[in-house]
Amino acid sequence: MSELVFDAPVAGAAVKQALAGSVFRPYWLDDAARSAPSFGPGLRYPDKYDLAIVGGGFTGLWSALLAKQRDPGLKVALLEAQTVGWSASGRNGGFVEASLTHGRDNGMARWPEEYGELERLGLANLDQIEQAVADLGIDCEFERTGALTVATEPYQAEQLLTDRDGSAAGEADPVYFDGPQLRAEINSPTYLAGVWDRRGNALVHPAKLAFGLASACAEAGVDLFEHTAVRHLARDRASGGRLRLATDRAFVQADRVVLATNVFPSLLARYRLHTVPVYDYVLVSEPLTAGQREQLGWRGRQGVSDAANQFHYYRLTGDGRILWGGYDAVYFPGRRVLPRHEVRPQTWAKLARHFLITFPYLEGLRFTHRWAGAIDTCSRFNAFFATAYSDQVAYAAGFTGLGVGASRFAAQVMVDRLNGVHSPITRLRMVREKPLPFPPEPFATLGIEATRWSLNRADHNQGRRNLWLRTLDAVGLGFDS
Ligand SMILES: Cc1cc2nc3c(=O)[nH]c(=O)nc-3n(C[C@H](O)[C@H](O)[C@H](O)COP(=O)(O)OP(=O)(O)OC[C@H]3O[C@@H](n4cnc5c(N)ncnc54)[C@H](O)[C@@H]3O)c2cc1C
Repeated sequence: MSELVFDAPVAGAAVKQALAGSVFRPYWLDDAARSAPSFGPGLRYPDKYDLAIVGGGFTGLWSALLAKQRDPGLKVALLEAQTVGWSASGRNGGFVEASLTHGRDNGMARWPEEYGELERLGLANLDQIEQAVADLGIDCEFERTGALTVATEPYQAEQLLTDRDGSAAGEADPVYFDGPQLRAEINSPTYLAGVWDRRGNALVHPAKLAFGLASACAEAGVDLFEHTAVRHLARDRASGGRLRLATDRAFVQADRVVLATNVFPSLLARYRLHTVPVYDYVLVSEPLTAGQREQLGWRGRQGVSDAANQFHYYRLTGDGRILWGGYDAVYFPGRRVLPRHEVRPQTWAKLARHFLITFPYLEGLRFTHRWAGAIDTCSRFNAFFATAYSDQVAYAAGFTGLGVGASRFAAQVMVDRLNGVHSPITRLRMVREKPLPFPPEPFATLGIEATRWSLNRADHNQGRRNLWLRTLDAVGLGFDS
């Protein structure tokens, strides 16, 4: 087992000082609080809708918008248990990845025959998000800066440079960097090589995007209800085929329903074992000074992640802070989404330590925000799709930490399916197939812990995968960052 660059010691006092003034709150929601739209819980009894959408994150908001664009006369309600964008959609890294398959390797391993089409659709989806943001005039700091993967260990650099040598000479994209070139781009002593995919990723202020989409929905005539949790979904026998969504105050009747509830327990009981919540932790720094920016470089403002299984993701914000997250992905036995799981001082300390190893000359910079969020992990690592109640209900979940962009694609799939449209996207094998569910406890905990332990070991062992990981790979359950 070899020591990794991130195993290096850092003075505890420096870590403590970096975190000392941070508040426990997602930076994005804090920063955009003034522009947050507000919608009451004022459902009337009994309300009837053509389409009811459950969940006010990106998936639900895009579904409402796309449904209205297709048929402006449609009567649409969006029911959100808390406030729009409060959950994963308002607290993520803001990487809008084109990939619909959680990366090329995962997509190629599962759907090799249609991977080219999936890649094309993913890029088109990203272009359409960019276009929608411009058309709707949403000020969400959308930047098409691309994604930079950096190698911090020699075996990772070797792999990246082998990929470079295998790629067609003279291609403009992706751009490969050796160590000195990469360090000239972004100044970190840990960098050994990198690859910059300039087209396949954008950065966004996620809370501003969610709030902007919610306002666009309201303008398009969608009725949005916050603080309105749906407790139960069933067929409404009395109404001749409609569906009934029961909330604490009233119920809604709808001809069609989109379930965009992400990591929260599915209203379709049969899919409750298909996802598990895995917690991801994040820090945001104070804005850098002009001198610190000068030292750092990073003029391309790329979204960055490192090439290990346990990886960090990081980026600049619009006002010149650094967001730094990832690495520990924590599953708590019992698969419950609970606020107490968001508090994990040891992970924030680890993140701060890794930050200081990456950018040692930024010692003294303070983090202003720390938070966490639950990721809806499924066993194939990208969203899956289902219908129920004679195709009157559509469901998508399982984005596994890559749903900022893919949520719009998922919305498109659900709207197509509810309209009975057989489009090129509903015909995809990726869309028609479902992942295997996770086993019940205690087997879920045992399996997830064995995988986490093995991935960490692989990172310390030149990326070599042990028997457990190779077995998971062989049965289509293997995860490779
Ligand atoms: C820390 C973190 C970092 C991430 N970073 C990235 C990233 O950089 N790039 C990326 O692509 N992805 C990232 N992700 C994942 C991404 O944020 C999600 O995949 C995406 O936001 C999912 O959107 P959603 O609308 O499906 O879910 P959510 O935003 O979780 O919305 C679901 C909504 O449904 C509501 N709801 C649930 N049940 C009910 C009910 N019964 N009744 C009414 N309402 C209900 C919830 O209150 C919630 O508001 C990250 C996630 C986390 C947690």
